[in-house]
Amino acid sequence: MQTDTLHRFLIESANVRGEWIHLDDTWQHMLDCADYPASIKKVLGEALAATLLLSASLKYKGTLSLQINGTGAANLLLIQATSTGTVRGLARWKEEPKGDQLSDIFKTGNLAITIEPSDGGERYQGIVELQAESLEATLTEYFQQSEQLSTRLWLACNDQSASGLLLQCLPEENDDENEGWQRTVLLAETVKPEELLDLDVEDILHRLFHEEDVRLYTGDPLNFQCSCSQEKVEAMVVSLGQDEADALLQKQGEIAISCEFCNRHYQLDPIDVQQLFSEELSSDLSDNKKMVH
Ligand SMILES: [Zn+2]
Repeated sequence: MQTDTLHRFLIESANVRGEWIHLDDTWQHMLDCADYPASIKKVLGEALAATLLLSASLKYKGTLSLQINGTGAANLLLIQATSTGTVRGLARWKEEPKGDQLSDIFKTGNLAITIEPSDGGERYQGIVELQAESLEATLTEYFQQSEQLSTRLWLACNDQSASGLLLQCLPEENDDENEGWQRTVLLAETVKPEELLDLDVEDILHRLFHEEDVRLYTGDPLNFQCSCSQEKVEAMVVSLGQDEADALLQKQGEIAISCEFCNRHYQLDPIDVQQLFSEELSSDLSDNKKMVH
């Protein structure tokens, strides 16, 4: 069984492309960061698989995020993936949801897909209202509203793994009425969550599309990676200004910051903080000197 891999495939007999994803370590890493209630855990794992499937289906360089804002037991779910195959994510909740449906977890709200190009290109954002039943239904609605290629996703998640399957019309064949598209979607709709979670890519493609001509490509590895760092934390403390930093030190004895994505702890004691601001001062002075001369 390949773990933490994304495979692309092409159903040549139907002019449909696809992706299959399976995550173990990345998913475990995300679960280590917070003790999520079961229903939130499920939607977080599904969102993780969906974001990476989506990221792999698009040509971009930068960050793609999937964000759900809600008004219920949970109010935020955020997954950030990069075009280099790394990902991180979290959810915030106030109380345990009373059911498994999206409306039980978030009540009402929306889902936003945002692409921030790293090369300074234009930012893209698409927003769709949450559908009551599931993330799958919400993403189906998203693809219908955004004038993109016909796309469908199937997602599954348990305590060990998060998995998913994506089908998309080829650009030259993009038409919902397309017979090949309709046929492969009907076949994919027979997939059971346990098959998505337990079968490897060859077996699942055989199970669903054995009457089609399928070409499977080699897999791409994926991993959990947080973009937080000591430098970013220091820059944040500097941006607070010396007065506010001193006030925090006086109250707490040190400045302690935990990253919500990866659970890493950063601590700055009074000497660290003093050094930060004196470095800041001396670099200001040297900038001034450069300007003078
Ligand atoms: Zn982090």
